[in-house]
Amino acid sequence: MLRSKYKELIGPFIERKSISTDKIFQQELKNAVDWLVALFEQKGFQVETFMDYGNPIVYASYRVDPQLKSTLIYGHYDVQPAPAGDWPELSEEERKGWQTPPFQLTDTGERLVARSIADNKGQVGIHMAAIFDLIESGELGYNVSFLIEGDEETAEGRIDQFLTDQSQRLQQYDFLVISDGLLENNIPTIERSFRGSMSCTVQFTTSEKDLHSGLYGGAVPSASNELASFLGKLQDETGAIAIPGWYEDIQAPTTKETLDDERLNRLLEVTGVQEFIVPKEDVVEAIAFQPSMTITSLQSGYQGIGHQNSIPGAAQAKINFRLAPGQDPQSMMEKFKEFVRANTPSYVDTTIEFSGVMPGVYLAADSDEFQRAEAIMKYVYGKFPIHAFIGASMPISVEVERQLGIPQLLLPLANDDSAIHGANENLTYEALDHGLEFSYQFFKRNNNNP
Ligand SMILES: [Zn+2]
Repeated sequence: MLRSKYKELIGPFIERKSISTDKIFQQELKNAVDWLVALFEQKGFQVETFMDYGNPIVYASYRVDPQLKSTLIYGHYDVQPAPAGDWPELSEEERKGWQTPPFQLTDTGERLVARSIADNKGQVGIHMAAIFDLIESGELGYNVSFLIEGDEETAEGRIDQFLTDQSQRLQQYDFLVISDGLLENNIPTIERSFRGSMSCTVQFTTSEKDLHSGLYGGAVPSASNELASFLGKLQDETGAIAIPGWYEDIQAPTTKETLDDERLNRLLEVTGVQEFIVPKEDVVEAIAFQPSMTITSLQSGYQGIGHQNSIPGAAQAKINFRLAPGQDPQSMMEKFKEFVRANTPSYVDTTIEFSGVMPGVYLAADSDEFQRAEAIMKYVYGKFPIHAFIGASMPISVEVERQLGIPQLLLPLANDDSAIHGANENLTYEALDHGLEFSYQFFKRNNNNP
């Protein structure tokens, strides 16, 4: 059955320790690529490897029939760090909470446990296993290409440039499929939007040196006071971002999304906070469709024990903005810079540096495939899928929307307690079986897709 074929396929993929965040694993990344290329070739795919965009990008295509629609499936073979040494020799501390060797597939009878079994080898592997099976039985209903990159977990890849360079042929696909997230509450889920992001470091300088607060305090400016006063102006008393024009251009959803009490309570439990700072009915709105501003770091003055009582000449804040779908990051950067100019006295020197800037995206639900995916999910999971509006960012999805403009299906297949990026990353058999069955039915040639 499909489950055992899946395990056979995924085991050796897991064993390649393709950790992209640490350069010492370069050879392991290469091994993962070689393994993928050999496997796709063996299954009859035409494979290309692109080397000019960071870690190699594997692009493998299988054409069934030019009459059929074509789909592009995105995934990544790079993984988050995990204890990679020889397992029996690792101390308790070196195992970092892992109970079994992360780069070996462990079957608990209920779950598969391994690094990347959810993020993302395990999820892209579900589509691979289903599609290989359909190829064997001659029932594959789409022309299929896999685009599997190796820099998803770093900020260093240039997949955006790859999409630019290859846009001519990539635009030919009828739709894109990504399975790289979590089922919400283990209910079938289709992700519909992501927010953008914009991080900045703001530095205030009032003097080249720190000054005695007794000798000069009250007469000379303090960078820390000035920064605190500036940061206080970023929000109004309702908590809204007070930068002029910040709420223009937001792409409003057509329906009001709310969470029932069970999901709200679960959210409180997961976050460990006492209360939400918006009314219950506005929680989804606040997380998914509204911009947010978080001061993620503050630094100024003496950090040691006791008091130094000096006036800091410099102060720094790091701020992360989440942008609503529709907000243009370029214009938001300008608005922020203007706000800093307008709200700092002339005796404060300021520098602002931006990083990790990307827009949000709102994905349409009107393609034929979207509706087909919903119907098949209903059939496989026994429940109609919920539409999830995500507060975090999804660079690949933004770039596909911006550069290719093809419909996207974001179909998470992993259980919501799969501990992505953490110790004992896992995939439940329930999620796996549903995922395999869904993928198999979805890509199968049938009446809807003759
Ligand atoms: Zn990840």
